[in-house]
Amino acid sequence: MAATKALLMLENFIDGKFLPCSSYIDSYDPSTGEVYCRVPNSGREEIEAAVKAAREAFPSWSSRSPQERSRVLNQVADLLEQSLEEFAQAESKDQGKTLALARTMDIPRSVQNFRFFASSILHHTSECTQMDHLGCMHYTVRTPVGVAGLISPWNLPLYLLTWKIAPAMAAGNTVIAKPSELTSVTAWMLCKLLDKAGVPPGVVNIVFGTGLRVGEALVSHPEVPLISFTGSQPTAERITQLSAPHCKKLSLELGGKNPAIIFEDANLDECVPATVRSSFANQGEICLCTSRIFVQKSIYSEFLKRFVEATREWKVGIPSDPLASMGALISKAHLEKVRSYVRKALAEGAQIRCGEGVDKLSLPARNKAGYFMLPTVITDIKDESCCMTEEIFGPVTCVVPFDSEEEVIERANSVKYGLAATVWSSNVGRVHRVAKKLQSGLVWTNCWLIRELNLPFGGMKSSGIGREGAKDSYDFFTEIKTITIKH
Ligand code: NAD
Repeated sequence: MAATKALLMLENFIDGKFLPCSSYIDSYDPSTGEVYCRVPNSGREEIEAAVKAAREAFPSWSSRSPQERSRVLNQVADLLEQSLEEFAQAESKDQGKTLALARTMDIPRSVQNFRFFASSILHHTSECTQMDHLGCMHYTVRTPVGVAGLISPWNLPLYLLTWKIAPAMAAGNTVIAKPSELTSVTAWMLCKLLDKAGVPPGVVNIVFGTGLRVGEALVSHPEVPLISFTGSQPTAERITQLSAPHCKKLSLELGGKNPAIIFEDANLDECVPATVRSSFANQGEICLCTSRIFVQKSIYSEFLKRFVEATREWKVGIPSDPLASMGALISKAHLEKVRSYVRKALAEGAQIRCGEGVDKLSLPARNKAGYFMLPTVITDIKDESCCMTEEIFGPVTCVVPFDSEEEVIERANSVKYGLAATVWSSNVGRVHRVAKKLQSGLVWTNCWLIRELNLPFGGMKSSGIGREGAKDSYDFFTEIKTITIKH
């Protein structure tokens, strides 16, 4: 009989020390459906310890110069980069994404997050204004807020967590971070690098567990004045309620129902593969993924034919398969949820052009219980359908025709979300006009997911509150004060 493999056991990281927890949660390998790791099921007690450590570390960390903090962040980046392969393997196993994507996107971007904020913290300035007639001058100063509570989701685990940890630290805050209980491994691995990089004990504390237990304990703690949250809209609602009695500073990066608008003068050679990628990258589990594709009527049939053909080429495979474009979804429950949307669409009379229920998924025997699903294209669906209005967050996209520019803007804006949109057209005037009228925090034209980290990132309407980026994150992680001097 084969020996049972020991489970990976994670520990909380508080005050520079790894600490065991009194209870644990099982964590599954999405590609096999087997438990392979146990995550601390932390609660109030662990949050109290982390808050104490973070508060004690704050005076010293916040009084370091930006240059000193920058040096430490760069050290973290260097160490992470040296272990890139190890982190990529772990992220792929924990999340189900392809190893190729973890290697080329998740971990390199996590490294870049530290480097980027290590650099940007050196370049903030403030202005002074004069009131000579009153003999006064005014200026502003910024100070770190204190202990920052950071909560992140499972789709881009280390990428999104470091996108919060790096700016919070750079601005002089100390941190309590809570990654998703479904994907905690790379955050735990990061803790092992912090001491070596010169991060003092208590500056970064990582506490693992569920949203309901440890997440709520963090959000409702009176000594944590700021919460940066990335996740779903219902969780954001709860976090807002828990934060309200304390008037906490909140940044909420939430879901999307992102449209792609494809005009008849679009370059389909570029648009088709980019829209397949924007719909199905990371199993469709990116908040910026396209899930409503509006195509001008005159090219609808041609686009659909090419799009379905290209989608069928988007191979689903085990995460380590170098030819796979898509791995496994995050969990059994999520897979069921995503599938249920396809069933609802069918019940409404929509057509499934490829994927779920139409094509056959082929997987090795040991991955049969993994959470895999084929990329699925739905047509003949009404704008009011739940598949066209609710965030599915999986490899399912809808394609619908439109007639005019005015009409498509109205339809694209008709959902409660407003995170990202793409516009495809070779008419420069139209591109500018449409981009301006879309209710969306980000608009990509004739491309997708090209990110400029200096510029604001975030959503409108139910996609969130606040923006992240060089200046925006700095503003969020600091308090501003106006000082008037009479001379
Ligand atoms: P989620 O809201 O279920 O969980 C996100 C995090 O919040 C997890 O760490 C979870 O444990 C924690 N949490 C859950 N309930 C909580 C509570 N009551 N109090 C405190 N913390 C709690 O989201 P998810 O399923 O992990 O992630 C998917 C969602 O994230 C999608 O809606 C997606 O669009 C969104 N997302 C948004 C962005 C963005 O930048 N706008 C990026 C990635 C993902």
